[in-house]
Amino acid sequence: MNGVVSISPSIFQDQYGRNKRKLRISVTDRCNFKCMYCMPEHPEWMKKQDLLSFEALYQFCDFMVQNGIEKIRITGGEPLMRLGVVHFIRNLQQLRHKGLKRISITTNAHYLTKYAHDLKQAGLDDLNISLDSLNPDQFQFLTKKKLKPVLEGIAAVQSVGLPFKINAVLMKGKNEDQILPMVNWAKHQKIPLRFIEFMPLDGDQHWTKADVVTEQEILKVLSCQFHIQELKQEHEPARLYRLNDEYDVGIISTISHSFCGECDRIRLTAQGELYNCLFATQGLMLKPLLDQLITEKDETIRQILQQALYQKTSTYIWHKAEGFHRIHQHSRKISMHMLGG
Ligand code: SAM
Ligand code: SF4
Repeated sequence: MNGVVSISPSIFQDQYGRNKRKLRISVTDRCNFKCMYCMPEHPEWMKKQDLLSFEALYQFCDFMVQNGIEKIRITGGEPLMRLGVVHFIRNLQQLRHKGLKRISITTNAHYLTKYAHDLKQAGLDDLNISLDSLNPDQFQFLTKKKLKPVLEGIAAVQSVGLPFKINAVLMKGKNEDQILPMVNWAKHQKIPLRFIEFMPLDGDQHWTKADVVTEQEILKVLSCQFHIQELKQEHEPARLYRLNDEYDVGIISTISHSFCGECDRIRLTAQGELYNCLFATQGLMLKPLLDQLITEKDETIRQILQQALYQKTSTYIWHKAEGFHRIHQHSRKISMHMLGG
């Protein structure tokens, strides 16, 4: 074996040889928050009867795991707002012996005091928690909700022993003053933290490049307090930086440095549309096929998926991000609260 780890190709590979290993499932577009970088002012929620049932979702996950998917992330909207999500996670455990290695959730943490224990019992592996400010007024301004339940939710996952990371989206003039307070807070508690550049996926399409706090700007602020060493990027979207030789912070810089070359993700919306990229202009409606998956043979859907995923583009060129935004401002109806990040 000469020490080389062999990775089997997944059946879902795109034209640039990128195997699809990670599946993100949005289970609802609804959310109790109204983050200014995400939710439109007047959201038009998907109709409940149009959502994929958990039964159909489970069959889809089973099928995808048998075809090379190793990691499933449940997201939204706010995934903990969909009744039955904990039970769904418990059911997913049956896919471990077929190759499923990790089950994660991305949440705003508001409901975690209620669900942390059940999520742990259901076999969840880890969470990404969104938290963009430690200042209660600023948090309220950004999300239209209170900070306190979120901090209590974080304490709840700590007490049940579920691993988690914090993700913070930075917006120019809104919360970039949180860079040092958040790093100091997370470092003190040994919580992994990642800053995310604001992407043009906000519901009301107000994004401009001037609103983005770039990786370089974040590093400049960090350099006021820390000695910074860049670490080797390990097949993850976040670039890691070691601060004072003792704490690593991540930066996901989709705007200033795309990581498309390594992308191994597939996304499914709550009503069953497949997106092969966050920035794809169109999804592929799979719901009718997925409703059939429960009873029918899988070959048709395998071929349809293979074709859709094969066609994934090589990259989005982010210095043209404003161009992307202008072109799709009127055509693209999908935003982050539907795709789940
Ligand atoms: N409601 C959950 C939450 O907030 O964690 C899950 C869904 S949310 C759409 C998933 C992730 O997308 C969050 O970490 C959020 O901060 C991020 N996000 C939303 N809109 C974004 C944008 N325009 N640019 C960058 N990240 C964004
Ligand atoms: Fe809701 Fe998450 Fe979007 Fe905030 S980022 S509005 S919590 S879906």
